[in-house]
Amino acid sequence: MVRDAGCYRDILAANGIKGTRQRLAVLKELYSSSVPLTADDIYIKIHDKGQENLSLSTVYRILDMFVKKEIAVKSGLIQGGKALYEAVTGVHRHNLICIKCHRMMSFDGCPLESLEKDLENSTGFHISGHRMEIYGICPECERSKS
Ligand SMILES: [Zn+2]
Ligand SMILES: [Zn+2]
Repeated sequence: MVRDAGCYRDILAANGIKGTRQRLAVLKELYSSSVPLTADDIYIKIHDKGQENLSLSTVYRILDMFVKKEIAVKSGLIQGGKALYEAVTGVHRHNLICIKCHRMMSFDGCPLESLEKDLENSTGFHISGHRMEIYGICPECERSKS
């Protein structure tokens, strides 16, 4: 998903956050990634582009603020002992996770919608959401095995 800088500024403004360069840089990385990111990932991406000189603790502080304002969610997924963050885009997605290299691939669409309806009927639960992660070996790791 590609957005222009003004668009990111609007997202922050709509949530009562002043659009500083550092916050915009973090937001941009979150929204342009198709998979959840750790604070370290975001820190490295921003530094690689040489755009901003911000510390890792600043990235954490900005992420915490985004989570409080519900622009981002802290995923229940943990990668290498670190929390993963994901932009709140309104697109419902699931991830395939490689148990060897921890690479993550997301796919759009949800196979659980009809199951949710059946469960609501059979249990009387009003279902508000779900999480699903699929684990396995990615094609690259599978190839390097042989
Ligand atoms: Zn792999
Ligand atoms: Zn789903």
